[in-house]
Amino acid sequence: MANVSEDFLRLQSGYLFPEVARRIRIWQEKNPGESVKKLSIGNTTEAITPGIAAAMKRKIDLLTDRATYTGYGDEQGDTPLREALSLHYSREYGVSLPPSAFFVSDGAKSDAANIQSIFSRSSIPAIQDPAYPVYVDSNVAGGHTGEYGSHQGGYSGIVYMRADASNGFVAEPPKEHADLIYLCFPNNPTGAVATKEQLKAFVDYAHRERAIIIFDSAYTDYIETEGIPHSIYEIEGAEDCAIEIGSFSKNAGFTGVRLGWTIVPETIASDNAPTGTVHRLWNRRQCTFFNGASNVSQAGGLAALSEEGRKECASLVTYYKENARIILSGMKAAGLECYGGIDSPYIWTVCPSGMSSWEFFDFLLEKCHVAVTPGSGFGSAGEGYVRISAYGHREDIEDAVSSIKEKLR
Ligand code: PLP
Repeated sequence: MANVSEDFLRLQSGYLFPEVARRIRIWQEKNPGESVKKLSIGNTTEAITPGIAAAMKRKIDLLTDRATYTGYGDEQGDTPLREALSLHYSREYGVSLPPSAFFVSDGAKSDAANIQSIFSRSSIPAIQDPAYPVYVDSNVAGGHTGEYGSHQGGYSGIVYMRADASNGFVAEPPKEHADLIYLCFPNNPTGAVATKEQLKAFVDYAHRERAIIIFDSAYTDYIETEGIPHSIYEIEGAEDCAIEIGSFSKNAGFTGVRLGWTIVPETIASDNAPTGTVHRLWNRRQCTFFNGASNVSQAGGLAALSEEGRKECASLVTYYKENARIILSGMKAAGLECYGGIDSPYIWTVCPSGMSSWEFFDFLLEKCHVAVTPGSGFGSAGEGYVRISAYGHREDIEDAVSSIKEKLR
């Protein structure tokens, strides 16, 4: 008889978004003919832009001709795309990384989940609370944690770094030892960004503790505040202690197309193997378990990094940022205390009148016909908040904001 994984069994019930979807479904069954404005999931809604779409169509044409057809590509990604990513980092962020450090993938989520697998089971993860759920769940499923219980409201074996209003939703490095430090800025769900000094404290910690930072920069194009780093490699010394995960989802609208990348410099050190081993093992992992990202997506990614493509991405990002501005000012006008929403598509909103996250979720659904995401789904420190997402058509965003303002006034 085969046994299922004890590590997977340790995962707590229902992933957040299916539960949100279930409650919306029940509400819709009870209210036929009414529609829900969904400001819940971070899913893009606007069309892929013309230049990027044209590049993907051209690639499809090449695939339909035997003379230009191509099958499997390199597991690490197409060389022109890796070169373009390397150039993008140097031009936009002043960061010098060779194309060989870039591993193209089918998106940031799978890389964020898989990266723990090349580290020892005994590696201790440090994760901000609240956080994008993949960091915690992948470490649980990968056997890096103990049981779920009362330990800081989560799993034993995880060092939770509490991010709340008192620290501007940017935790300080932990007092205790950790090996894998997960950071995400601009942050999902809080919308916070970290300054150079705040990130430098983590790089210093990583050097001191011989730890590795896993930096999720999926929302980097949303940063508008002067001086906020777009990449962890803008911090001196990060190239020997940090992995960065990026995505085309939220700037090029590739949530469905699927394309991302992970940067694993050869200079990253680890405690029990020579420098270069982390890079080599990620390469080994990708070559064994991954057959490369879609060649059509990669053609789109390459176009997104061209001068024209950058402008098209900027116009998409500007659209969602305007949505965020409308939500932020609307929620403030409704008397709600809000954070984020400036360098980020997420508005982290305090539940009024001492309501819990799910209570406020239900209130907004029942009274305003608006779905948001309960903050408690991102970790115990998210209790008492909801995350409002700026991904939506402008008219739906405006309707949702008017409805909330009307019912909360
Ligand atoms: N990282 C963060 C912080 C996210 O919020 C998301 C999606 O919402 C992802 C990664 C997933 O990105 P991708 O679509 O590239 O898998």
